[in-house]
Amino acid sequence: MKVIKFGGSSLASANQLEKVLNIVKSDPDRRFVVVSAPGKRSADDTKVTDALIKYYRDYVAGNDVTKRQDWIINRYAAMVEELGLRPAILEKISKSIKKLATLPIEENDFLYDTFLAAGENNNAKLIAAYFSQNGVEARYVHPREAGIVVTSEPGNARILPSSYDKIEELADGDEVLVIPGFFGVTKDDQICTFSRGGSDVTGSIIAAGVKADLYENFTDVNGIFAAHPGVIHKPHSIPELTYREMRELAYAGFSVLHDEALIPAYRGKIPLVIKNTNNPDHPGTKIILKHTTHAFPVVGIAADSGFVSINMSKYLMNREVGFGRKLLEVLEELNISWEHMPTGIDDLSIVLRQRELTPIKEQEILRQLTQKLEVDTADIEHDLSIIMIVGENMKSHVGVTATAAKALSDNNINIQMLSQGSSEVSIMFVIKSEQEKEALKALYAAFFEKKEN
Ligand code: ASP
Repeated sequence: MKVIKFGGSSLASANQLEKVLNIVKSDPDRRFVVVSAPGKRSADDTKVTDALIKYYRDYVAGNDVTKRQDWIINRYAAMVEELGLRPAILEKISKSIKKLATLPIEENDFLYDTFLAAGENNNAKLIAAYFSQNGVEARYVHPREAGIVVTSEPGNARILPSSYDKIEELADGDEVLVIPGFFGVTKDDQICTFSRGGSDVTGSIIAAGVKADLYENFTDVNGIFAAHPGVIHKPHSIPELTYREMRELAYAGFSVLHDEALIPAYRGKIPLVIKNTNNPDHPGTKIILKHTTHAFPVVGIAADSGFVSINMSKYLMNREVGFGRKLLEVLEELNISWEHMPTGIDDLSIVLRQRELTPIKEQEILRQLTQKLEVDTADIEHDLSIIMIVGENMKSHVGVTATAAKALSDNNINIQMLSQGSSEVSIMFVIKSEQEKEALKALYAAFFEKKEN
C-alpha cells in the first residue's frame, strides 16, 4: 500500500494531471492520493493558494471580490474543460469558492484557513472526478471524514495523536482515495491549516495512519540534489538519505520537503521517496531509517547565510563554574534562540540567526557580557554563513574534515569556526557569507567530482 502526494506544480494544468493519472494507474498499490492546490503553470503565474490570500484580503476589507473569485474559478474551469470533465464538478467548485465570501468575518479565527484550504479541497474534488471518468475507481475524502483532527492553531496546526486510529480505517476498501492536503479539522470542526507547504505533512500523516509501505512525494525535480543547483551546475540527486541526514540538510536550507513532514513518517517507520512527476522513471531520493547500501561518507552539502556570531573571551574561563549558565540566561531573558556554541579554552562563541537580533538587543548583550559576566573582550560578527557537510557514514571514515579543510584552504577560504556533534552526522563550518558560493563549489568538487574520499 502506498500513499502518493502530488505538489502544486504537478497539478497546475490538464497536461500535468494526465501525467498524474498515468502515475497512479501504473501501480495498483497507489491507493491514497494526497493533493496540493494547483500551483504555477509558468514562472510568472500565481499559485491558487496565493490567489485565495488576495481574495481573503479583499473580502475582509469589504472590497468587490468578483474578479478574485472569477480568476480562481477559471483556473479550475480550464482544467475541467481540457480534461473533458462533466460540468457538474465545475458547478460544485464554483459554489464552494463563492461561498467563502458569505462566511462571518467577526470573531472567526479560522476564516483565513478556510479560504486557503479551498485550494486543495476543490482540487481533490476535481481530481477524484477526473480519475473516476478515466478508469480509476476513485473517491474524494474530506480530511474530516479521513479523521485528520488537528490542534486549534490557525495557520500552524499539528495533528492530534488520537487521529491515527480513525485514519487507519481508511486502509479497508479498494478504491483510490483522493484526499486534499494542507489542512485538517479541529475538535470543534473548524478548518485549520498546517503551515505553508503543508500538503507534505498530510501525506506523511496518512502514510503513518494507514501504515503504508511507502510514502511517495511527487514534485518537479529528480529527488534531492547533493548541493544547491543554483550554485553547482547540475548537481547529482542523492539516491538514498537517512531521516537524520535529511533533517541536517533541511536545517541548512534544503527545502524540497516541508520540515514537519518527516516526523509522522519517521515515527511510523515508513520509508519516503521524493520523485519527479515529469520524469517518473527516475528513482528519485529515498529517505529511510538506515542506509542499506555502502553510501558515501558524505551525502550532501548545504549552505545557509544570515548568521551572526557573538564572540567573547575571558582569562581562565575554563575554570569558572556557572559561566555558561549566566551567558545563556542573558540570551533567554532577551528571548533569543541560539544555534551553536563552539568553544576554546578561554573563549566561546554563540552562533545564531541574524533575525533573532536587533541593534538594541546587540547592545544589551555586549553590555551584559562586559558588566555581568566580566569578559575581557566581546564582539558581534555579522554576515556569516554555515556550511554543513552531511553523511551518517562519515563516522566510520577518516579524513572527511581533512578533505573539507584542504578544499577550503586551497581556495583561500578562512574557516572561522568548526563544529561537529558527537553523533557525527555532520560537520559544520562557519565562514564569511561573501565566500559561501566559492566554498560550496570547492567542497562539491572535493567530495563528488574528484572522489577523493
Ligand atoms: N497550497 C499550500 C501552499 O501553497 C500547501 C501546499 O501546496 O503544500 O502553501
